[in-house]
Amino acid sequence: LLYLDHLASTPLDPLVFEAMLPWWAPGAVGNPHAAHAAGWRAADAIEEARAEIAALVGARPGAVVFTSGATEANTLALLGAMPPGGACVVSAVEHASVMECLPELRRRGHRTATVAVDGEGSIDLAALDAALTGTAGPSPSLVSVMAANNEVGTVQPLAAVAALARRHRALVHSDAVQALGTRAIVMPALDLDLLSLSGHKLNGPMGIGALVVREGVRLVPPSQGGGQQRGRRPGTLPTPLCVGLGAACRLARGRAEEDGRRMAGLRDRLWTTLSGVLPGIRRNGAADGLAGCLNVTIPGIDAADLLLGLPELALATGSACRGDRAGPSPVLLAMGRSASDAHASLRFGLGRTTRPEEVEEAAARLIAAVRTAGVYPS
Ligand code: PMP
Repeated sequence: LLYLDHLASTPLDPLVFEAMLPWWAPGAVGNPHAAHAAGWRAADAIEEARAEIAALVGARPGAVVFTSGATEANTLALLGAMPPGGACVVSAVEHASVMECLPELRRRGHRTATVAVDGEGSIDLAALDAALTGTAGPSPSLVSVMAANNEVGTVQPLAAVAALARRHRALVHSDAVQALGTRAIVMPALDLDLLSLSGHKLNGPMGIGALVVREGVRLVPPSQGGGQQRGRRPGTLPTPLCVGLGAACRLARGRAEEDGRRMAGLRDRLWTTLSGVLPGIRRNGAADGLAGCLNVTIPGIDAADLLLGLPELALATGSACRGDRAGPSPVLLAMGRSASDAHASLRFGLGRTTRPEEVEEAAARLIAAVRTAGVYPS
């Protein structure tokens, strides 16, 4: 298998695997919330992990609330941190886990607004200003804008978003899932109140993520029946997964920049190869976006059909989180692409472990498939 779908999920780093192993071992026992030595040992390991996660984003360890992943973290941010009576303002290219909170917020009586993006997927700051003005009420609003888009890789101007939100007294949340592996996202520097991250996008384990919550931000828990994590997200913490997320964050902190440089080089070479061979191919998203992301439109292809014929080449047509929901990518539509262009688009997701030969081989297989489909003369 040639795996270039790292924006959907990354392989576990061997060092993360090693860090988790003792906590998976059959002899490992102890509820981390229990008051005995086994519980304390697990709790200590979890607190170390919390500190690593916090350090990656410039927060205090107490700010880290473990969740099952970023879907839950985003939901917790939007539904749990929404000021009573406030409005919720999001960009038009947010992940489904943000977008699909909006109907629930409206049911709860909140006003919501979706802010347009430009042709590259970057948020329109004047439209954000207008949305914040238009939805303003007596309570503060909550703005949610992702750090980088998971389909086209465009990196949002978070500092400008937060500065604008502040002028309107709004809280700021960012889904930083995709950015953290290759870019520094420092909450105090960007003035963020809430940030979501996910283990399996950072060469860490699946099934664990975190919402990082600035002190003073009120969070209403989604479930009852437990005082764990100061009641902010009740439930017994999974020690091995928490330890794994901590190890993944420690690695990311040390190497994100270097990984980003290397991956951007591979991505640019991939684009040069594809654009040299496939006339009419277009790139979606900003050229200086996520290092591992290359989203292209190859006019005339049916991308989903093409990829079905290439099961050993793992690419994507859009977000895996939309599941079986067919239909063109809402992200590409929000960027002004037509539905037929969206159906002709696919995404390469390069990762930490991607080698140059893999990128070359992927390009060759894709080009051959496009030619076989009869879209271009060979
Ligand atoms: N946000 C973004 C931008 C994502 O790419 C993803 C995963 N596709 C998520 C949230 C959801 O993360 P998780 O899989 O941890 O629920």
